[in-house]
Amino acid sequence: MKRICYVVAMVAEAQPFIERYHIQEVKDFFAPLPCLLYEGEVDGVTLNVVLNGQEHGSDLVGCEAATVATLSAIQCLHPDIIINSGTCGGFRAKGAEIAKVYIGNGVMFHDRRVPGDDAWATQSLGNYPVWDGSERLAKTLGYEMGKVTTGSSLDMQPCDFEIIQQHGGQLKDMEGAAVGFVCSLFQVPILYVKSVTDLCDSGAETFEEFSRNLHQACDALKVANERVIDYLKGQMN
Ligand code: SAH
Repeated sequence: MKRICYVVAMVAEAQPFIERYHIQEVKDFFAPLPCLLYEGEVDGVTLNVVLNGQEHGSDLVGCEAATVATLSAIQCLHPDIIINSGTCGGFRAKGAEIAKVYIGNGVMFHDRRVPGDDAWATQSLGNYPVWDGSERLAKTLGYEMGKVTTGSSLDMQPCDFEIIQQHGGQLKDMEGAAVGFVCSLFQVPILYVKSVTDLCDSGAETFEEFSRNLHQACDALKVANERVIDYLKGQMN
């Protein structure tokens, strides 16, 4: 195990981390796709960060760009593990706080409402496997675990909340399940490292809360990812 690959949606989420490890952009590596490759080395382990990329001057958040980024990363880089790291919404009622870091213990979609039989429902929800070392990592590093639930919107409609509640969702994002889907196809292990920018049950306007806490949550993410990399290095060498 010699290559760790992060898949990250937003520049703000990846930047502290890219600076910390002095990793460099490999220009046009995925052209004409929008995703961007950064590469560096940490004590003999290759560290890749694949960003979703941008369009019209803003980050390509969401499942489509995350799918393209993950597929490209796996096919071109053959990583030993994919880490989907980024910000998410949490739930105060479940103990979440701003900038609290979680490790994912499951991943599913919360906004794919497809009528039909159980097979349709099962496929729509996703529920892809996470890396089987996730729990040990979380215990060793002292992070709580939570189930990641993914949808295409930042806001939360009552029908989203219903599904999130029904399935024990804790961390609401816009990419996790798409990344997990692609990893499941190739049986590449996937680890989720998520930091809370907003509390979905706080009553605050989500985008305002997200923007206010983005910096703090990304700093927490950087600290957590340093610890995650140190841990994985130990496992890999
Ligand atoms: N216009 C904003 C868009 C951010 S979208 C900007 O560029 O600043 C939110 C991003 O953060 C997504 O990548 C998503 O994965 C994550 N996220 C944070 N809080 C979220 C929430 N409550 N629901 C869904 N995604 C959330």
